[in-house]
Amino acid sequence: MSHFDKILLKLTAILAAGILFNRYEQMRKFMLGSKLHIKKYIEIFLIIFFAVVIFSFNAKAQNAEAIAQKGEGIYRMLTRNGYPVSEYLDAFIELNKGKLGPNNSLIAGRKYKLPKKKNETTLKASGKTVRHEIFGPRYADVEIIDDQLKGAVFHLVPGHGGPDPGAVGTYGNWKLCEDEYAYDVTLRLARNLIQHGATVYMIIKDPNDGIRDDSYLKPDKDEVCYPNQRIPLNQQQRLKQRTDAVNSLYLKHRGSFQRMIIIHLDSRSHGQNIDVFFYHDKRSEAGKRAATTFKNTFQRKYDQHQPGRGYKGTVSDRNLYVVRNSHPVAVFIELGNINHKRDQQRFIIPSNRQALANWLFEGLLDDYRKNK
Ligand SMILES: [Zn+2]
Repeated sequence: MSHFDKILLKLTAILAAGILFNRYEQMRKFMLGSKLHIKKYIEIFLIIFFAVVIFSFNAKAQNAEAIAQKGEGIYRMLTRNGYPVSEYLDAFIELNKGKLGPNNSLIAGRKYKLPKKKNETTLKASGKTVRHEIFGPRYADVEIIDDQLKGAVFHLVPGHGGPDPGAVGTYGNWKLCEDEYAYDVTLRLARNLIQHGATVYMIIKDPNDGIRDDSYLKPDKDEVCYPNQRIPLNQQQRLKQRTDAVNSLYLKHRGSFQRMIIIHLDSRSHGQNIDVFFYHDKRSEAGKRAATTFKNTFQRKYDQHQPGRGYKGTVSDRNLYVVRNSHPVAVFIELGNINHKRDQQRFIIPSNRQALANWLFEGLLDDYRKNK
């Protein structure tokens, strides 16, 4: 189970406990009115029932696991999974006693338990702040603003990752890698959605890159695919892996409003157009509607912030593996051209990346309101 997942599970457990307790209290009050001898038995039954439910929730919240890669030691495994080594080394060794090789080495291919993260979910005095380490130290505490998106499930897929950097742009001496910039915008979008009560899955995750307020996002290759899979280099396998991940989550949430949002930058040339482009599956009316909602939001934002600039972004269908093969309604977004001078400003200025995330959020909110 991934870190992100565990947080969601814990939140659900806390919520369920609250609801059950409430229900139990109501029933207890009701039963107080009935005959005394029955009352006692019912009360005991309810307590046992309540305990069993809580226990089963706890049993589910087990330790996450990771498989040792070739040549990997404890340090690398912990770092790869986003654990500060100094804090978790002892806990890791304790947890995996008997499974370690000489000098506490790891045996490649073997599964190891990861320690429970401390303060994963910190409910502050207001009861409205949750902690998601994936957003990095500065952004890990997420304040829940409202529950407008309660019940909505979003599968967020930043393009490329792992061994594949995607398109690479040049900016002065910097090499700008598409996967890092797409990831940063996607993380910011994820955080926005969580702030409004949505359930969010980051399908591509980097355990040690949170939201970064830098212009230059240093490229790395340690992104993993949900829940914790190494990303293959082969394109077909890579796309299938992430689509499968989304599809299995989709089944888990069947009946809920769900969207899959795929975020790329890319360096394709669109003639003179350098805007944000939205793609959907040809057969999907809902996909077309969602993409159009996005486009309208961007149109509105441009009119508001850069009047007269004109917006030429489009909505169109496109034959893309991830869009064609995914169960949830999917929208594939190209945020701009990583090689284009003007588009580059949209990516290297952190507040512009936040603005993109905010606009995408507004588009999704609008889509949810209209189409839920
Ligand atoms: Zn791409």
